[in-house]
Amino acid sequence: MGKKVRVRFAPSPTGGLHLGGVRTVLYNYLFAKKQGGDFIVRIEDTDQSRFVEGAEEYIFDCLKWCGLEPDESVQQGGNYGPYRQSERKELYRPYAEQLVKEGHAYYAFDTPEDLEKMRHESIPDQPHSPQYDHTIRMKMRNSLTLSAGETEKLLAEGANHVIRIKMPVNETASFIDMIRGEVRFDTSLVDDKVLLKADGMPTYHLAVVVDDYLMKISHAFRGEEWLPSAPVHILLWKYLFGLDQMPQWAHFPLILGPNGKLSKRDGAKYGFPVFAMSWTDPKTQERTEGFQEKGFLPEALINLLALLGWNDGTEQEIFTIKELIDKFSMERVHSAGAKFDYEKAKWFNHEWIKRSTVHSFQSTVKTLLAQNNITVSDDVMLDKVIGLVKDRCTLLPDFVQQSSFFFKSPETLDVDAVKPKWNEAKKLFFAELIRNYELSPDWLAQSLETNFKEIAAVNDLKPGELMLPFRIMLVGSKFGPGVFEIAEILGKEETGKRIHTALKIFG
Ligand code: GLU
Repeated sequence: MGKKVRVRFAPSPTGGLHLGGVRTVLYNYLFAKKQGGDFIVRIEDTDQSRFVEGAEEYIFDCLKWCGLEPDESVQQGGNYGPYRQSERKELYRPYAEQLVKEGHAYYAFDTPEDLEKMRHESIPDQPHSPQYDHTIRMKMRNSLTLSAGETEKLLAEGANHVIRIKMPVNETASFIDMIRGEVRFDTSLVDDKVLLKADGMPTYHLAVVVDDYLMKISHAFRGEEWLPSAPVHILLWKYLFGLDQMPQWAHFPLILGPNGKLSKRDGAKYGFPVFAMSWTDPKTQERTEGFQEKGFLPEALINLLALLGWNDGTEQEIFTIKELIDKFSMERVHSAGAKFDYEKAKWFNHEWIKRSTVHSFQSTVKTLLAQNNITVSDDVMLDKVIGLVKDRCTLLPDFVQQSSFFFKSPETLDVDAVKPKWNEAKKLFFAELIRNYELSPDWLAQSLETNFKEIAAVNDLKPGELMLPFRIMLVGSKFGPGVFEIAEILGKEETGKRIHTALKIFG
């Protein structure tokens, strides 16, 4: 039997959860669920300078809203904890020291000034700072250039130091990416990355490898921006645990906005969200709206993200999470960047609103209406209204415009739409309609329409010309579902009242 499938999403708690992040979670989740595996969330918070208050909690709130909850995490617990890297701090140093002992890493005592000098002095005419790599390392202050005695002494004195990987020269580091196939790197081109920092914390490079090993991760999936780090990780796997232990990797394509890589600024500029849920930066108080606040259903967000970089090979576009679990495969994830199209995203939401049950919207619509000072007490009526208007809503706030007039008579009527063609004959028609409707034995859209048309015919009027004024009377303006369906829900009394009021206004 092969290794149990265990995947992880490993966010750094540095801010809002970006679309790309949610998609990484989703692909991890789908892969794990399909294989009957475990989905783990590990908080990578070893870079204390980037730590942002509240970001971790926010990430879990987003996952909950999206319905992508982990099997193991800081919140769920599990057998491989702690799941927050800062709480695992003590665990990493021995691995870094082992690497030093075996000649794959070294202590570096360079001061910030030394490093600054290196950047400026080595290649003065070059705009980019040179890397701390095999061409530079022998000119710096580290355990490769100092004697063993000096190094010992500095360590014993507690001198500030980091541990750097000693990247080999002229070797090839390669791996098979599940999406991209074989990817090869020339190790000479990679710098001697810091593995353990002066504060004793590991960097991402060391921590990711050690934790993927200790947490028995079978597959590691991450964004394509991490591809350049792969050679460092490959070597760490090779030196510490053996390449046969390395998880299978896949690097997901970028999500592209109108100007290349989708950025937070694109959202602000083009008016679409880039975060799952709204995020308020605790330092600046700057609030960035998310898909949730815009009025997206989580099912729609999941569906549209699944298709940003993957398809099942057919024309199908609407997938439930169950179908996605069933059909998802890493081999069908594209390697090229996937373009995010907000209009298409809204289309997905519209489709999902159409497909969702009336009842599922009840409390949301009530809350939205309450925010607009409309109190709904009749749930039966609310369900009927939702059933009638939901196909007309693209984003959840659309329910406000589409359903307010059922619960509150319109404050203004679009008189201009009626006036030019308004005449005595039409006025008499509506007066007769009120009388007819008052006597109506039932109150169903079908009979209301039949009566309407009969009275129009008797009076030699075209029903088409009467429909618009009728709509304006009931709704206030020119939108909404079928006017007889509206009247049915409004009821006899309210319909009569609105016709009366409007007749006075139309004159
Ligand atoms: N901590 C990394 C991040 O913030 C995770 C990369 C990985 O999954 O290996 O995205």
